[in-house]
Amino acid sequence: MDNDHDPATQGGSAQARARRADRALPGSAFAYDPGEPAALPVLARGAPQAPPTDSSGVTIERLRHEEDLARSGDLYLLAPVGYCLLAFDTTVLKVNLVGATMLGVARANPGLHHFRAFVVPAFLPDFDGFFARALNSHTGETCRVRLRTPNDGGVDVTLHGSADGSGQACRLIVERAEGRLAALERSEERLRRIVHCAGEGIWEIDAAAHTTFVNPRMAHILGYSIEDMLARPLISFMDDEGIAMLEHCIAEHTPGLPAPREYRFIGKDGRVVWTSMSTSPILDADGACLGALALVTDITVQKQSTELIWHQANYDTLTGLPNRHMFMDRLRHETRKADRGADFLALLFIDLDHFKEVNDRLGHARGDLVLVEASRRIANCVRSSDTLARQGGDEFTVILSGLDHIGSVERIAHAMIAALALPFELGGEKAFVSASIGIALYPPDARDIDQLVERADRAMYAAKNAGGHQFSYFTPGLQHAAQARQSIADDLRAAIALRQFEIVYQPIVSLQTGAVHKAEALLRWRHPTRGLLGPAEFIPFAESNGLIVEIGDWVFREVAQQVQRWQHSLDPSFQISVNKSPVQFRRDADLYLSWLDYLNELGLPAHSIVIEITEGVLFEGANQVIERLRQFRAMGLQVALDDFGTGYSSLSHLKRFDIDYVKIDQSFVATLENDVGDLALCEAIIVMAHKLGLKVVAEGVETKVQRALLVDAGCDFAQGYVFARPMPAEEFETMAAAGIPRLPH
Ligand code: C2E
Ligand code: CA
Ligand code: CA
Repeated sequence: MDNDHDPATQGGSAQARARRADRALPGSAFAYDPGEPAALPVLARGAPQAPPTDSSGVTIERLRHEEDLARSGDLYLLAPVGYCLLAFDTTVLKVNLVGATMLGVARANPGLHHFRAFVVPAFLPDFDGFFARALNSHTGETCRVRLRTPNDGGVDVTLHGSADGSGQACRLIVERAEGRLAALERSEERLRRIVHCAGEGIWEIDAAAHTTFVNPRMAHILGYSIEDMLARPLISFMDDEGIAMLEHCIAEHTPGLPAPREYRFIGKDGRVVWTSMSTSPILDADGACLGALALVTDITVQKQSTELIWHQANYDTLTGLPNRHMFMDRLRHETRKADRGADFLALLFIDLDHFKEVNDRLGHARGDLVLVEASRRIANCVRSSDTLARQGGDEFTVILSGLDHIGSVERIAHAMIAALALPFELGGEKAFVSASIGIALYPPDARDIDQLVERADRAMYAAKNAGGHQFSYFTPGLQHAAQARQSIADDLRAAIALRQFEIVYQPIVSLQTGAVHKAEALLRWRHPTRGLLGPAEFIPFAESNGLIVEIGDWVFREVAQQVQRWQHSLDPSFQISVNKSPVQFRRDADLYLSWLDYLNELGLPAHSIVIEITEGVLFEGANQVIERLRQFRAMGLQVALDDFGTGYSSLSHLKRFDIDYVKIDQSFVATLENDVGDLALCEAIIVMAHKLGLKVVAEGVETKVQRALLVDAGCDFAQGYVFARPMPAEEFETMAAAGIPRLPH
């Protein structure tokens, strides 16, 4: 009977099972209906289908199979049943692994044994009959006997025998005659053991992505107990980054390609766990998704070592900064960006001066400390978006990108030079180095990154050759200009002591009455060789080297004395405005109290002084600014918003700040006559400022027409050449004595 072709025996229908049960041998456990479900349904689902179970069918099939195995060399060795080749007298000629284990004989030398000797005597008559038939049978004979076993009382087996091709021997298949139930239990137990001991994590989720099963290894990978994990949603084991990766993987999923993917989980203790997962969906008979099963490998260690290798290839181990390799990568990237946009980038090549001496004197360990500290100081001078790298030794490079003017490069170079010149404290010892910096710009100075690096390097040598502790541009023009600026910066230091600063005063005229009760103090520097310099020529340097604070303090005290004099000689309510740049506003906070003391000392009411700030100040950390302006108010000082209209503040925005005056920028005033739009804008500013309780000052009024338009628009005050240029205090006084403060209006 060959029911291989009977579809009913292949399927799992109830009828087929019933038929198989009918045909089962009496007493055999084949009558058992396995039913559903197995304890590990998911794994059982994936396990190979049980072979056809009809006994005779199985036998023939198996024999054929075994024959194939036997033909293909020693493959029969691996057969899951006992397999022997017996001589006529039952001498064991050959035996496979399972057979040898069953009988307790050595495979190497089976010929010492007769198979018959293993048969329990009560079964010998059955065996002998069976063996005689089998020797002559090509279709196969079956018999059940009990075999003696080395360790226990015996094992019931089913023997399937048939003559071998030569007719000289009998092929025997020895199959444990345990029942279906026991077989199933054994297979289930085996699966359970595999799952339990597996070196891989196994994770099953249901259709809602809640955990329905994990094996101990899976729980161990994430540091949880199995109970902790059950019923929890998959994503509760991930952080936002992990979830994003999961979503990405789902979005990218290509059906039919269950290639392992990397996923990121968070272990119970919060550490990141990298895994490689192969997932397969669990489908019901209709193809609906019931969930998924994943095989999970912990790859955290590999991942970390890959990361470590990457880190070592791209970062300097001593300072943690990008190394030369990474630096070139970033430089390439930044030059491409500059190619696309209108801005440029600067490459700073920094080399420490005297580092070798420090290394020789204090040893390499301390030399290393200097390098680490130097890298920290340099990093403090740049934005986080800039790249600082260590080239090796005591050489560092910085890429400053997205620049629109050269001034910021120079400020940064100055800051680095100053920072690196400070002493290095090394556990009781002090070390001194300084820095030589070469600056090359892209695109003006170089075509490509190699040339750019080479030119910055060359500029660095120029700085070093000139004595170190300075920077040098690659471009000679820039270098000369920088030198001139540098000499201004150097001269500035001496200027206060040498009393080279002067203050000129420009009247601020009331547009209603023509009276002058106010003036703006404007700073001048009488330079010993360059003559009289305007603020634009030196204030930026005073800002970048911090001298602005000292200069501003001097201006404040001078102006306080001046306003005191004019309150006596001109008008008791006379007011003078002083300018304060944003840098100053940020840095001179500590001076206010001493100013207040100074005003008290002079017996001056604080509202004698107006502080002029620009819009830029308002945008730096609004809360801090509001607080500073509130302090001014509390002191009694008044505040004017200078250059109004050139920045981004709107009048409504000014409500938040304590301000007394708005100064309309000269650029609007200059076009008042020709540009109807600007006139409308000035009128709107004036109306709104008045609504907010602010007075308006128009700056840069140069013509009578401008003045008339402003009067019509209701502007409160004006200053400009049409009334008077800024002038020294004595001149201002003479002007006032000659019948002014009433200027033509
Ligand atoms: P600012 O505060 O806008 O000062 C007005 C500028 O316009 C002054 O230039 C003044 O001389 C000029 N000016 C006055 N009337 C007219 C006019 O009718 N037409 C034209 N075209 N210009 C006129 P100055 O004195 O060169 O000052 C330039 C800037 O320097 C000032 O602009 C102010 O921001 C700053 N500054 C001046 N003194 C100081 C100071 O003591 N400390 C600080 N931090 N900055 C100062
Ligand atoms: Ca001003
Ligand atoms: Ca102004």
